[in-house]
Amino acid sequence: MSGDEGFRFGGRLALDLTWTLRYRTVAPTELLVDPSDLARWVARAVAPTSAVADPALLAEAIRLREAIHAAAHAVVAGDPVPRASRTVVNRWATRPGPTRRLAPDGSARVVLPAGAPIAGALAAVAADAVDLLATRDGRLRVCTGPGCSLLFHDASPPGRRRWCAAERCGNRVNLRARRDRIANRGGA
Ligand SMILES: [Zn+2]
Repeated sequence: MSGDEGFRFGGRLALDLTWTLRYRTVAPTELLVDPSDLARWVARAVAPTSAVADPALLAEAIRLREAIHAAAHAVVAGDPVPRASRTVVNRWATRPGPTRRLAPDGSARVVLPAGAPIAGALAAVAADAVDLLATRDGRLRVCTGPGCSLLFHDASPPGRRRWCAAERCGNRVNLRARRDRIANRGGA
């Protein structure tokens, strides 16, 4: 796949990385096929960069992604995080990550480590994974949207979200329910 049309972002860096393998349960679709896909994802998810990734780093990013995915599913199930996943996440979490600077316009700017920008971005992903997995607030869930299965963390005040992003899966579910209601009414 080329182009970043398929990338989606839900507000949690660690989970956003797991979203780069879509439709896991029905038709797994890999969005990180080429090292350039990883570089594009980093530029959109973490901080602007023109850095390039290589195949080894792509393979490592996918290992980190799968470790986060397995760890998150363990947390959703109320199980301990598997040791293998923990090892991968922790190895990345200890590497130097991005820093923040004040930009001239007063906003905060995320700056990737100059020597290893892509690896630095993955360190930030792992650090977010540590925070997310350790929270255990019952708000880490698997989307119930049709065929979706994306992991999400519900940060909404009521905390009752069932969909990865209401404007996508929620709407699809609501639409289907409405169609079903209309169809039932028509048949009655
Ligand atoms: Zn979904």
